[in-house]
Amino acid sequence: MISYKITLKGLVQGVGFRPFVYREAKVHAMMGFVINTADGVVIEAEGCECEAFIKALRENLPKHARIDSMEIVEREFCGYSDFEIRESTLGVGSVAIPLDTALCPACQAEMDDSSNRRYRYPFINCTDCGPRYTIIQIPPYDRVRTSMKHFTMCSKCEAEYTDPSSRRYHAEPISCPDCGPKLRFLDNNGNEIAGDPIALAVEMLKAGKIIALKGLGGFHLMCDATSDTSVSELRRRKHRKTKPLAVMFSSLEQLETYTEMNEDERSIINGPIKPIVIVRAKNGTNLSAHVAPAIDRLGVFLPYTPLHRLLFEAIDFPLIATSANISDEPIIVRADEIAHRLGNVVDGILSHDRSIINALDDSVIQMAQGRVVMLRMGRGFAPHTLPLTNPLTKSILALGAHHKSAIALGAKKNMVLSGHIGDLGSIEADGYFERTIKTFKRFYDCEPDSLIHDLHPTYTSTRYAVENNKDHIGVQHHYAHILACMGEYGLDEKVLGFAFDGTGYGEDGNLWGGEVMIADTHGFERIGFLKPFALLGGDKAIKEPRRIALSLLFERYSLDEVLVLKSPTTEAFLDHEIRQLHHMWLKKINAPLSSSMGRLFDAVASLGGFIQTLDYEGQGGMIMESFVDDSITEPFDFTVTDREIVLSPMVEQIVVLSRQSDAKRLIASRFIATVEVMMQHFVDSHSELPIIIGGGVFQNHALMSRLYRRFGNGRFYAQQQTPINDGSIALGQLYYTLHNLPHPEDAGSFRGL
Ligand SMILES: [Zn+2]
Ligand SMILES: [Zn+2]
Repeated sequence: MISYKITLKGLVQGVGFRPFVYREAKVHAMMGFVINTADGVVIEAEGCECEAFIKALRENLPKHARIDSMEIVEREFCGYSDFEIRESTLGVGSVAIPLDTALCPACQAEMDDSSNRRYRYPFINCTDCGPRYTIIQIPPYDRVRTSMKHFTMCSKCEAEYTDPSSRRYHAEPISCPDCGPKLRFLDNNGNEIAGDPIALAVEMLKAGKIIALKGLGGFHLMCDATSDTSVSELRRRKHRKTKPLAVMFSSLEQLETYTEMNEDERSIINGPIKPIVIVRAKNGTNLSAHVAPAIDRLGVFLPYTPLHRLLFEAIDFPLIATSANISDEPIIVRADEIAHRLGNVVDGILSHDRSIINALDDSVIQMAQGRVVMLRMGRGFAPHTLPLTNPLTKSILALGAHHKSAIALGAKKNMVLSGHIGDLGSIEADGYFERTIKTFKRFYDCEPDSLIHDLHPTYTSTRYAVENNKDHIGVQHHYAHILACMGEYGLDEKVLGFAFDGTGYGEDGNLWGGEVMIADTHGFERIGFLKPFALLGGDKAIKEPRRIALSLLFERYSLDEVLVLKSPTTEAFLDHEIRQLHHMWLKKINAPLSSSMGRLFDAVASLGGFIQTLDYEGQGGMIMESFVDDSITEPFDFTVTDREIVLSPMVEQIVVLSRQSDAKRLIASRFIATVEVMMQHFVDSHSELPIIIGGGVFQNHALMSRLYRRFGNGRFYAQQQTPINDGSIALGQLYYTLHNLPHPEDAGSFRGL
């Protein structure tokens, strides 16, 4: 007889782990117990089949479980007479926070079965599925510390909850129609309307109305995605002109008729998380043209809660399902707030009384050459935990950037990156930012010793750090992009980094964003960048790419030449406007310099005649993407002189090309090829270094696919588990700090996943 203490870390809570251990213990006649602790799942086991038992733990893992570490210590024999599951011990530690999961097939079958006691029950769940992070007040994950604590289990539910052989053994949100949360339908003032809430919602949707529906991490705004009137009304009321809206489909079959998916996309769309996935839309469907104007890709997903599924039982058209918020503010989680703030947007509210404790948007993903590109990390993926091998003696809070804000905490044995918070700068977003910080402090029971921030002096996140009267360290934005990718992969060596994004504050006070650097975890050297161009009118140029394009024309041509130039950019201005802007350019009045690749994409979108004024960030690139023809690989000309990537030759070629009949296809394709070759130029002179990329420009599907094809067989690293855009800046900031603490013994040695 041998006796062991086994400590397991990873995704081992909220995934049916303890019943799994119990069953394997019974199979192998082990005695002892299993318990959830703050440090992970602890098993004490003794018997003759210890080896086989441990092997089974490794090999027969429950579907959503993941073991990051397994520590096995031989101990004194205790002589246990049975194997049992013990109640959790309190405390906060190093366990990954369990993540929300979509309705599983077994629960779906039960809710479809008219003889089952949970037939058509909107809150059905089990140890494989249901809400997790969004309902947790504080870990470890047990019912009494979730918003389900207000619902007392009936005897039938309790019997399942305490039966180790049940699928719902310790399914913390377990409930049934007798004892669980209740649905309610409210009018847009928040007054309850009598009747079957689902039938009332269906009736409204069929009548072309807009409803708010309470999902896992917040409310969705929903309406008929095939109705031009409904979709344009939603846009009008929400003040959202053209930014694409996500669409929920009843089933994979229905989705097939609207989109072209490959096998990778299909499996993630229909997988256990069911995030929003951006796929190619088919032409000629009955989907409203207002859903995603002028672009050929569509954000789609499948019903992931039982409630969403019930809605689709009576509805055979796809539904818009977009986060309920005002423009880019945080998602709303309470029905009274919907009535108060979006009462003029919605016609009715389908709500219930299980509170959402931690708000979380839907995750948005794109696939490129079979690899995940995370565009927004939310439900099912956030918070993202990366384990450290040695515990930190200090805790470090990284505050991220400004747009697509997210925070990261390094405490005890974890680095944890939060989900998408949104664009800071509004009262609501800044409030959500501070709430997320509080939540993380509570979850990991710590008060951060150091705060890490962006270099931009006026970001809300920077001010938070500076005003907090603690140690604070600034990390350059684009360096943080490279570090975030290194962090995800656990790299600690010299790399060749490409950080391409919209805007970030450079060390010289200019706006950077087309940066090539040699970096390691201690510093970086900027070895290449786009030759800075003027953003004529500052922020105004970000909304009007034609102003950026004009400044590129001024670099190449004289004013007189520009005035007679036949180009979509010059045609978008009156002559006196061009003269005025030329004066600004010449005298450097309100014309900040930028080396941003994102801004270059916008400028090319203007020069190529794709778009002159933007409604949302990245729109230029998205429109161009739909014209990219992968068979065209000829780049435009550019030169690299003294670290500067000079684009005048390309600008001239685009101007000439824009007069041709097939201009858009050629310009979009050749521009993507140019970016590729630009990167190749630096790779060739540093072929010994691994390639790292990061930044919002890499959200471009056409570019990412080409990069995976070009570099994918070598040491090419692009984030897959964490956002490739500013949503990971906090992770990069934290990763830097872990390697640069004043006392090296404070740093937890890091192991990537
Ligand atoms: Zn289930
Ligand atoms: Zn019950």
